[in-house]
Amino acid sequence: MSDWTKLITADDPIEAGFLRGLLESAGIAVQVRSMELWTAAVEIYFSEGARPSIWVRKRDLEGARRVLERRDEHGEGAPWTCPDCGERLEAQFTSCWQCGRVREGGG
Ligand SMILES: [Zn+2]
Repeated sequence: MSDWTKLITADDPIEAGFLRGLLESAGIAVQVRSMELWTAAVEIYFSEGARPSIWVRKRDLEGARRVLERRDEHGEGAPWTCPDCGERLEAQFTSCWQCGRVREGGG
């Protein structure tokens, strides 16, 4: 299908995975391309062409850009897991609703 368009090229597979989770949690369908090359051969890791790129449907492009802008503003966006009780929490929560533990900064 030709209605996919490249949103951004990630620096590494870790960022690609992070961005993918961010977009999917916002309800946006995502394709990550070139990822399979990373696992297939480590040396490709360092070549320009192997940087994973994030693709979204054209109709999702504006929404996806807003998601990325929000991430840049807040410097966060990934869900986190409470170290005390193990509850999984969305990024907007700054403390655990289960046990009250405050989210640790930095990271
Ligand atoms: Zn907790």
